[in-house]
Amino acid sequence: MRALSLLTLTAVLGVAQIPTPESVLGHKPGDDFYLATYDDALGYFQKLAASSKRIKLVKVGKTTQGRDWYMAFISTPENLAQLDHYKEVSRRLALSRRVSDAEARKLAHDQKAIIHIDGGLHATEVANAQHTIQLGYDLVASEEPEYKRIREDVITELWFSINPDGQNMVANWYRQNVGTPYEVAPLPYLWQEYVGHDNNRDGYMLNMIESQVVTKATLETQPLVFYTHHQTAPFPGRIYLPPFADPISANMHPLMLRWLNLTGMTIAAYLDEHGMPGSMHQETFDVWYPGYLDNVGNFRHTLSFFTETALYRYATPHFYTIDDFPASRQPLRAEMLYSSPWKGGWWRLADACRYMYGASMAVLDMAVEYREQMVYNKYKAARDTIEQFEKDPPYAYIIPREQHDSPTAALLLEKLMLQGIEIKQSADPDAWVIMMNQPFSGLVKELFEPQKYPQLSQRPYDVTGWTVPYQMGVEVHAVTTPPSAKFKDSLKPVPMKNGSIVGYTAPFSHAENASLHAVNEILAAKGSVSFAGDEISATGLDKGKLDSILAANHLKSVSAKGEGKPVKAARIGLYRSWNANMDEGWTRWILEQYQFPFASLYNADVIAGHLHEKFDVIVLPDSQTRQIMEGYRPGTIPERYAGGIGEEGLDALKDFVNDGGTMVAFNNASMFAIDQFNLPVTNALAGVSGTDFFCSGCLLSIHVEDPKNALSAGLLPDPIVMFERSPAFDTKPEFKGSVLARYPKDRNPLASGYLVGPAKIEGKAAALNVEYGKGHVILLGFRPQWRGQSQGTYKFFMNTFYLQ
Ligand SMILES: [Zn+2]
Repeated sequence: MRALSLLTLTAVLGVAQIPTPESVLGHKPGDDFYLATYDDALGYFQKLAASSKRIKLVKVGKTTQGRDWYMAFISTPENLAQLDHYKEVSRRLALSRRVSDAEARKLAHDQKAIIHIDGGLHATEVANAQHTIQLGYDLVASEEPEYKRIREDVITELWFSINPDGQNMVANWYRQNVGTPYEVAPLPYLWQEYVGHDNNRDGYMLNMIESQVVTKATLETQPLVFYTHHQTAPFPGRIYLPPFADPISANMHPLMLRWLNLTGMTIAAYLDEHGMPGSMHQETFDVWYPGYLDNVGNFRHTLSFFTETALYRYATPHFYTIDDFPASRQPLRAEMLYSSPWKGGWWRLADACRYMYGASMAVLDMAVEYREQMVYNKYKAARDTIEQFEKDPPYAYIIPREQHDSPTAALLLEKLMLQGIEIKQSADPDAWVIMMNQPFSGLVKELFEPQKYPQLSQRPYDVTGWTVPYQMGVEVHAVTTPPSAKFKDSLKPVPMKNGSIVGYTAPFSHAENASLHAVNEILAAKGSVSFAGDEISATGLDKGKLDSILAANHLKSVSAKGEGKPVKAARIGLYRSWNANMDEGWTRWILEQYQFPFASLYNADVIAGHLHEKFDVIVLPDSQTRQIMEGYRPGTIPERYAGGIGEEGLDALKDFVNDGGTMVAFNNASMFAIDQFNLPVTNALAGVSGTDFFCSGCLLSIHVEDPKNALSAGLLPDPIVMFERSPAFDTKPEFKGSVLARYPKDRNPLASGYLVGPAKIEGKAAALNVEYGKGHVILLGFRPQWRGQSQGTYKFFMNTFYLQ
């Protein structure tokens, strides 16, 4: 009877019942052994949006795999009716220009707090995107005072997942294995089509569609907070929160860090208050690296951060006893930054969801509490940044339009534009110009200057040097004296077409990466191409077709002086292990971007042999020998994904090179080649202790030994490479081949980042061409295509993709 009268009531009022997640999914999010896919979550949010005016579902774009991607704004119907107004105010304050202090204070008084919360970008951290389903429901449906206040003062920008493709992959993989011996088996492919976990290393380059979509939306709403959920916490902590570890960027406005620390403590207090002990701070993760998508927004004065909640595996529960804890934590002593130690016991997906839910609620409550001050502070940070660079250098950066590789320089600037950075153009000098008196210019300084490290109390969590002009081989000059009024007045907007800078052309030569893109297009169109040193010439296409290919790549033909050698596209095989390998994914993405035709080579393809009949070049992405040879142990993963190439595969690779093939090994895959092929090369860093030498990722200078070598064509004489836990080579007397590049002999090669023991690599070879049988093994002891940004060293492998 009661149900019937409720039904009648809703019919009379003309409102639909707001559906609970269970009523649609058949499960409560967080149930043991259950994971909702992204499609499930979207289906649920569509029903939720159809039932209430407190939620507005917005399509933000497509994912890499072509899925429709949605997020939700949740607030009162009145606030949502004025969403465009609140967004506009948010943008005006974020830019701070033409807004007086008095006006900013008035706007802050009336503005709603826009808060971005998302269900994570790391799909194997499964609780992230499960908790957002329940959070979405309660923010829409709950009539409790806490939720009503949030709806009134806050516009929640709820991204139920920022890795929809991965959420589907992981949930489907788990469904297929749950209840079998492989229930907790690792996913054998990347859960972002190309980059897997590195989708949170793409924050400033925005190579992936997902990073671009999120950044574009963030520039539109300019949220006060950008909160991304992750798993897992340093054990036995249950959730890892700010304050984070040092060191931190010196180019962020100090207010960002103040709010960050306050947020961490607010979450911890909320969790303790609600019976969720085990909040931990400051261990393990420093957050200097601006490539984190959930960090880079701090340079736009959106308080951007992550938390890490404990995870066992997928939706499988696990029981922990004190014996599992590290000895130092077994006494369960309270610590300054771990004041409610977790005591062990069951840990289920539902627990992780509950902690995440509490943390999200704490942030929303904080936004209610401090709304006006937070809005004003965001404006204040932007205004301070503009004023700082009016007073202090660098006042501007000048990027000459004519340089070694102009299209790559333009690409760097296009990346900055995607971040909301304004670029200008000057006629004298002939250059692109970044005036630093703009609101987000802290990011430009962060990306352009070398990273210099303080004394460290613990080893850095990620890479330590990322100076982007170094990586891309782009010439950039800091302006350290105040520019004249005449110069400032002369600046013009940069002409753009379809998101690309136009109005410049570079010679069609080997110096420009774009030329190799053009070469591939010409070869694909059955044209002919010749290389003569750095010169490139093309024939065999009608002039209109050739000109349009060159123009699209910002190139113009130059009449070649030398006698060219005709080139042919190599048949490329890219080794693809079932140990999902991000470096493989990045490489695959770059090959696609540059239109190199290639095939993925799985273990079975390698083992099948006859490789030289199908391929000219085989690329081994950065990997350990064990991953290549053995792969996953049988019994830990469904059988078809177990094992590596084994001895049979190794023999097939040796035959391939013996028969005249070229094998290119990136970074640690060099060690596979050296050891398994018995190459007359040693790693000078083998057996050196971490106290004598350490480099978790920094930028080092090398010198190209023989610029006339076809494998070095188009490189700068002294390119800068990303060295990340890499080898450095010595050659044995019986070595045959050539040293392509070397670390400088008598000076520290460090260009940017943190390097212990530089003397250990001084004078060592960084890149080798080793003759083997009728073929070659190219050893690149660094990351030649690191995270899709070290454009300055792409030619080290791209040059091997042409047969002369
Ligand atoms: Zn994560």
